[in-house]
Amino acid sequence: MKNPTVREALKGAVEKLGDAGVDSPVQDAEFLITHLLKVKRHELFLNPERALTDAEAARFASFIERRGRREPAQLITGECEFRGLTFRVTGDVLIPRPETEILIDEALEKAAAFDGAAPHCAIDLCTGSGCIAVTFAKEAPRWHICATDISPAALKIASGNAEANGVAEKIKFLEGDLFAPLNGIKAGLILSNPPYITAADMKQLDPEVALWEPAGALYGGEDGLDFYRRIAAEAQNHLMPGGFLIMELGWGQAGAVRELLENEGHFTDITIRKDYAGIERVVAAKSVAG
Ligand code: GLN
Repeated sequence: MKNPTVREALKGAVEKLGDAGVDSPVQDAEFLITHLLKVKRHELFLNPERALTDAEAARFASFIERRGRREPAQLITGECEFRGLTFRVTGDVLIPRPETEILIDEALEKAAAFDGAAPHCAIDLCTGSGCIAVTFAKEAPRWHICATDISPAALKIASGNAEANGVAEKIKFLEGDLFAPLNGIKAGLILSNPPYITAADMKQLDPEVALWEPAGALYGGEDGLDFYRRIAAEAQNHLMPGGFLIMELGWGQAGAVRELLENEGHFTDITIRKDYAGIERVVAAKSVAG
């Protein structure tokens, strides 16, 4: 049988992915074939009658079969883009989400406002792929970072990502539960995108998430707020006066998280930042001096 052309391969792939219930079959088929052929998307359409080689055809078929089993496209290619940098991802880490990029905007603003004594140190809790620690290190070069995660497999990925993006010497990766491995470290910023999915929502996840992403990176306890409670309670011990705690929020959690930060009594200037979909996405709170 003759190998398919790019056009034929895409047409067949889109049908298969559509049948498998994939949300965006055209986008995913194009993404996977551009990765495979190492071309830009527009280049696909410059020469749509180019036949795939045997190896390309076989690889593309296997990509589409995996995507049809609802494996996320980023796990198939092993890569995810976040704030213009490339991160290696596996099933051991949460795939970085575009809305988390907003947390970095917030962190950069607060970093500029923070006038604590040098050297500037930030903490990233639940670092996962390392996307927050690595992009912050890259975009705020005066800061160094301590990043923790309870999963040794995730830390391996994260330190590889720091290395690949040229910031390995700026970040210390430490294994342990939230603040546990930090000893007495005090930081100007604490950043975190903690697990925040509720027990009810865990039952309604898309197959891409439920089957392929680590539950430990998603589940935030019955009401989704367990990690916010623990971080809010402990953050004060690890923040310099005037430092900021900045956390990503799940849909509808802003009010509850604001309240539990207020109840701690150590925070002032609590603000909420929306994402591009208008969802309240990032909370920032300033540590009261003393
Ligand atoms: N910090 C990583 C991210 O934002 C992982 C977060 C997590 O595992 N909950 O993508």
